[in-house]
Amino acid sequence: MGLQIPCPHCGLREFSEFGFGGEVRELESPDLEHDFARVYLNDNAPGPQRERWFHAYGCRRWFTITRDTVTNQILDSAGSA
Ligand SMILES: [Zn+2]
Repeated sequence: MGLQIPCPHCGLREFSEFGFGGEVRELESPDLEHDFARVYLNDNAPGPQRERWFHAYGCRRWFTITRDTVTNQILDSAGSA
């Protein structure tokens, strides 16, 4: 069984139902240089990472989870939006 993602609206579903929206990064300074870095220069660091996911083959809603990028363990799935 592959990675399962807990959708806050539909429950635990297979990874293949989702689209990855990237890691959540805070808006530090509203200018072009920082916006470019925030969107395109991912940290890709090992350990816990907040990520956006889109349930493409389900409720078609975006939500936020915290995933350990080393173990793929979902640490928190409370962040729906
Ligand atoms: Zn869903």
